Amino acid sequence: MKLLEYEAKQLFAQEGIRVPKGILIEKCEEIPPRRNEISGKVVIKAQVDVGGRGKAGGVLMADQDTVIETTRQLFNTRIKDIAVQRILIEERLDIQHEYFVSITIDRTKKQPVILFAETGGVDIEETAQKKKDAIRSVSFSPLLSDVPPFLLRELCGDAPADILKTVNKLYHVFCHKDALLAEINPLVTTPNGVYAADAKLIVDDNSLARQGIAINRDLTEREREAEKHGFSFVELDGTIGVIGNGAGLTMSTLDLIEYYGGKASDFLDVGGGADSERVMHAVRLVSGVPSVRVIVVNLLGGITRCDEVAKGIIASGVSVPVIVRIAGTNAEEGQRLLAEKGYEMLDTMDHVVKKAVEVAG
Ligand code: GDP
Ligand code: MN
Repeated sequence: MKLLEYEAKQLFAQEGIRVPKGILIEKCEEIPPRRNEISGKVVIKAQVDVGGRGKAGGVLMADQDTVIETTRQLFNTRIKDIAVQRILIEERLDIQHEYFVSITIDRTKKQPVILFAETGGVDIEETAQKKKDAIRSVSFSPLLSDVPPFLLRELCGDAPADILKTVNKLYHVFCHKDALLAEINPLVTTPNGVYAADAKLIVDDNSLARQGIAINRDLTEREREAEKHGFSFVELDGTIGVIGNGAGLTMSTLDLIEYYGGKASDFLDVGGGADSERVMHAVRLVSGVPSVRVIVVNLLGGITRCDEVAKGIIASGVSVPVIVRIAGTNAEEGQRLLAEKGYEMLDTMDHVVKKAVEVAG
């Protein structure tokens, strides 16, 4: 799970990394009573899970006179189409230099790898593309609890000693928090020392319980609905809705759509033994995805009964065309029910997907 900046900063601070003083708010009204916690110039930062947030208008500068007005403005802005629900207001750092540091796992080497650049900040991607040697990297044994000092020096070049110390602290975060990624961009020097001006942390989902991290993401209405029914659901941005049973069948339906040149608008696995009601909810849910033009239902009847599936599709009453492939238990009865209502059915997965790509255009 990707944590938001303010959550990541709390965990960074626990390992001794310095982060700017700040307050987290959900409403502008919370600012006046907390005025004394932030003095001087401030940075106002939308807590949204998007890359390139600053460039997308999610990081604004203000001073004490304009802080409320600027914060209100940010609450009213969508950042890459995501509503801003929380804002972090921080004392503005007097930045002298911006570095970039990122720690992840090199899966081929089966070792942690640290990337470092002397020119960090919002243009790091462009910098990395333009100048091949702008980013240095080192990897080392995962059994070490600290980054070996000689590797730190090799990695960070002439950077001040406090930068090297902070990189090592970030490695402690990476290990102790079961991270898949720990990143600071920019890691900055100021007249008052080194600070993490930004923070990114992705914690391995398998360790969330051990880490005591609650899954507190703001789900969309559709994701909440899917969770209620126990569907595995991921919304995508294509035009072909997908409903399958079993992750394997559903994934291969997505692959086949891609193969025939289409784009899926979701992944939805109804799970085993779905009855008509579950299927009805699934079809309605998928029909609500804004980009969907046609829905493919690809279900294999085992414990799931195809006549139940058919009843569910019919009961959904959605206006988006639904193309069906059902096979297995009670398939004939299911097909009879759907045929009566004029649904398009095809005998193989290949055929339904081809047809759907055609319909989607
Ligand atoms: P991102 O776009 O989501 O990566 O947001 P960041 O938190 O990295 O902020 C974007 C940019 O805003 C940084 O690269 C800095 O140049 C600038 N910035 C952020 N915090 C401060 C600050 O405290 N002082 C100053 N002067 N600039 C800041
Ligand atoms: Mn950043």
